[in-house]
Amino acid sequence: MLSLLDKNTLAIDGSGLKLATCLRRYQIAYNDGRIPTGGRSALLAGSALHAALRIKYETDAYQQVKEATRKAAHATIQKEFAKGTPDPEDWRTPQRIQETFDLYCKHYGRRVGNLIAIEMPFCHPLGSILVDGTKYHILWQGRIDRVHQQGSQIWICDWKTTTRFDYAWQSDWELDVGQLGYCWYWQQHSGQKPVGSMITPIIWRPPTASGKSKFPRTEFPNECPYLYTQERIDEWRQNVLGLCAIILQCHQSGHWPALSSCIGRYGRCAYLDVCTLPQAERQKLLATNQFQKNDWTPLQ
Ligand code: SF4
Repeated sequence: MLSLLDKNTLAIDGSGLKLATCLRRYQIAYNDGRIPTGGRSALLAGSALHAALRIKYETDAYQQVKEATRKAAHATIQKEFAKGTPDPEDWRTPQRIQETFDLYCKHYGRRVGNLIAIEMPFCHPLGSILVDGTKYHILWQGRIDRVHQQGSQIWICDWKTTTRFDYAWQSDWELDVGQLGYCWYWQQHSGQKPVGSMITPIIWRPPTASGKSKFPRTEFPNECPYLYTQERIDEWRQNVLGLCAIILQCHQSGHWPALSSCIGRYGRCAYLDVCTLPQAERQKLLATNQFQKNDWTPLQ
């Protein structure tokens, strides 16, 4: 939801900023607070895998996973799925996530370096801006998957599951608003500038009809490092404050322009059927069970 905590304080996170590449989409998802009901399994699978990895790192850190930890992680995956309603036909079942977790532990069981933090939520003042005579305070919030120290270097690490791993996917993280923002926050929090962001890709592919394929169904390609200069991190803050000013102007005026191409590399925007309706009919469709309340927050 558009997190105006009071009349003058806006809390913003990486997912919201990515949606704001189309201000209309930000309006529907955050201001109106409506998100599509489909895609539940993908979300549940993502949270279940993160919860299991959290147990692995909290318990065994950078050592090989113990059997008791593995069992606890598997039970957590089941519990996370029980919190929601998975799509019945989806391939991202609890069993598939348990298998992925086991394969991850086999691949990344032992690591060199120090684990500094794991699954760390935060909410931190980003700055104040003036929008049409009104002063707003902006809070930057999120959840860092893992902070890793290698020698004197600090890395802000993130697990990313994907069904496609190509040049475009890897390039997407170069200027990722979430990862840059996590580096900014870590520097405020600890006084130490991270060297950059480290993405751990976890490729999971749906099963094939024949059960055979030339590609494995789960793969762990090399981790992808992105180095961030101080200038780039500082520029991120200015960019986000500028974008917040635009969002708040839209909020004040009640007009949220459609700015984006509606078909992206992952297919059509989930709101295309809404935006192509006459204005007077859009809220009716958003109120149906094709959409649900957006109560997601990175702090939970
Ligand atoms: S369908 Fe197009 S205009 Fe509508 S929210 Fe999506 S990207 Fe924006």
